[in-house]
Amino acid sequence: MRILAIADEVDQRLYGPVLRQRFSDVSLVLSCGDLPIYYLEFIVSTLNVPLLYVRGNHAPEQLSSSGEVKREPEGCVDIDGRTVKERGLLIAGLEGSMRYSDGPNQYSDNEMWVKVLRLAPRLWLNKKRYGRYLDILVTHSAPLGIQDAEDLCHRGFRSFVPFLEWFRPRYHLHGHIHAYTPSVVTETRYLDTMVLNAFRFRVLDIPDDTLLA
Ligand SMILES: [Zn+2]
Repeated sequence: MRILAIADEVDQRLYGPVLRQRFSDVSLVLSCGDLPIYYLEFIVSTLNVPLLYVRGNHAPEQLSSSGEVKREPEGCVDIDGRTVKERGLLIAGLEGSMRYSDGPNQYSDNEMWVKVLRLAPRLWLNKKRYGRYLDILVTHSAPLGIQDAEDLCHRGFRSFVPFLEWFRPRYHLHGHIHAYTPSVVTETRYLDTMVLNAFRFRVLDIPDDTLLA
């Protein structure tokens, strides 16, 4: 099964008729935040597959055709603080970045710890019910010390590291770190998890025989 992961910037390699031509075999889209609402709606309506997302620290707003302020992309599912089963995969989301200003969707390390601990009982239920805690963790920020950056805004969350140790997802997809140069590391194995920066876009292929019924 093919997944399209997206984050941070509109990519002209996706935004247009090319999306349907190049990505018609995608079964699921995961957005790691900071993308405009019109872009998410374009992708979900063009590919016509589920699109799950978390918000980044840049919370987009746009005016709807009737002149109202729109904050939610239509047809997409916000998975912040939740775990869902979609296309045979257990997926959980944690939005936001480290708190560095009075902007939206920012959390201290302690606040993110609370979000992680709130999610934990649902992951234990997954383990009981499906034999595994989680397949994919979707976040905006990276874990502390893994593909993050030094400045407060781009520093990873401390709680994400024990999260990966406890729940061992196959993938941790994040955004927030703009990988403009090849020197930015965008793939790191940590224990059982491939930590992947989804900046602009990334395609993941999951073997069908590992999907839940
Ligand atoms: Zn960001």
